[in-house]
Amino acid sequence: QEGVKNICCVGAGYVGGPTAAVIAFQNPGIRVTVVDKDAARIRKWNSQHPPIHEPGLNEIVRVARDGTNAATIAIEGGDTVELPARQSNLFFSTDVARCVSEADIVFLSVNTPTKYTGIGAGAATNMVALEGATRDIAIAAKPGAIIVEKSTVPCRTAQIVRDTLEVHRPGVPFEILSNPEFLAEGTAIKDLLNPDRILIGSSQTESGLAAAAALKDVYAAWVDRSKIVTVNLWSSELSKLVANAMLAQRISSINSISAICEQTGADVDELAKAIGLDMRLGPKFLKAGLGFGGSCFKKDILSLVYLAQTLHLDEVAEYWTQVLTINEYQRNRFVQRVVRNLHGTLIGKKITILGYAFKKDTSDTRESPAVEVVKTLLADNPAEIAIFDPKCNPENVKDEIKHLFATTDTADSHKVYKDAYDASADSSAILILTEWDQFHYPPLTQKDSAFHKSDAPPQLNSTRPQKQATLEAEAALEADAALAPAPYGAEQRYLPEPPCAEGCRDCERGSVE
Ligand code: NAD
Repeated sequence: QEGVKNICCVGAGYVGGPTAAVIAFQNPGIRVTVVDKDAARIRKWNSQHPPIHEPGLNEIVRVARDGTNAATIAIEGGDTVELPARQSNLFFSTDVARCVSEADIVFLSVNTPTKYTGIGAGAATNMVALEGATRDIAIAAKPGAIIVEKSTVPCRTAQIVRDTLEVHRPGVPFEILSNPEFLAEGTAIKDLLNPDRILIGSSQTESGLAAAAALKDVYAAWVDRSKIVTVNLWSSELSKLVANAMLAQRISSINSISAICEQTGADVDELAKAIGLDMRLGPKFLKAGLGFGGSCFKKDILSLVYLAQTLHLDEVAEYWTQVLTINEYQRNRFVQRVVRNLHGTLIGKKITILGYAFKKDTSDTRESPAVEVVKTLLADNPAEIAIFDPKCNPENVKDEIKHLFATTDTADSHKVYKDAYDASADSSAILILTEWDQFHYPPLTQKDSAFHKSDAPPQLNSTRPQKQATLEAEAALEADAALAPAPYGAEQRYLPEPPCAEGCRDCERGSVE
């Protein structure tokens, strides 16, 4: 770590914010600044209300940003982390040029979504943000700075970064590294504190390897060196796309099998357990459900497909496209089953959606299966779609739905609640679309009360044994069972944090985006 005194992370999103916070937290001797051109986002990072929800994030940010007394925090899975007292070394700013100009290492952590217009629309990566940020870095960075691709990018992007730097600062030496992020939302802090591996790609030149070694030292402050893998630039860039594609492929594989199970009497959970005991397969990512969501899996598979297409590897492109096809098929199958179980019509009926985020323990709704399910259900004109999520801010969900369905008149037909019980009262069907712990089924015998205060809604599939209800178990039905007090109980209803100061603008709309 000798030499590295100042790190700047461009992009204060789901990756840049938590990653920079953990780097700062683990390296008290390095000044880490996260910059973003989105002033509202930076304001939130500087307030008591970080713009994203991640277990443990608040505590880490408070320690590194504010300096603090020693504390112990609990993170997902029951682990605890000791937080020693220290000086502030984490900062958030909108002054991109100044902060970049002071940095020895600059992380590029900007968004790289799918391109929706022009050549490659619907598959290629939209490089606008990455190109813009690279240009800003090229103009401001000090000679010899190490530029690190943290964003997920198409293979050979480092060449584009290098060319951009050369155009704006001809002859000035910069090293470019690829250091993709493998954190999963919902467990970001746990993953960052204890990663399976850190991947660093560099040119295999003397200066490239020296840059990789400098970055390795930053991570070695808390990650065992044997877990820090160094490879060439292109292997590193491609590894990230392939890792996500393979994870998504497992989900589509088990979901495709769930369709067979439902027609044969095989139980997909039993089957997943049986095959997962094979050491070659392992038990993870074998839970059948609604399909994957989130901002990464779909776009990264599309990026891989586009790469294969541009390399004229049509069979390869087709193979990976199928992972997305099954994902959509699974979601559609689920919605069709809900409508079928409600006698083919939603007119006059209230449908409750429990869980709007794309997975538990995050407030991120990007590409959430719930969004698509709501969209499809609304087309069937229900009396009401009632939505509850424990961490998504109701105002933001309302805004998002209004924005998504700007052309249809949905104002009266959807409502976002702050309480699961209110959302579920008098509902014809309750669909659990995010696996929040508090929505877990208690045993069917433990029928409780709180929900039975109101008239129990009609039950779907009440004659099916619960074990057989493959899709239902993941995503729906048995309204009263779903709502009896769960392990984490009613105290986890959406509760905005108490206002931190009079007139705090972040308190007005709640903490999370
Ligand atoms: P995000 O949209 O949450 O954050 C990106 C941020 O970059 C935004 O706040 C945006 O304002 C900022 N930005 C864009 N251009 C800028 C510029 N020129 N100057 C300053 N700021 C700029 O995105 P994210 O979810 O954090 O993802 C970032 C990258 O990390 C993507 O490539 C993504 O694929 C990858 N990734 C994401 C995850 C995840 O779980 N979200 C996991 C691993 C990798």
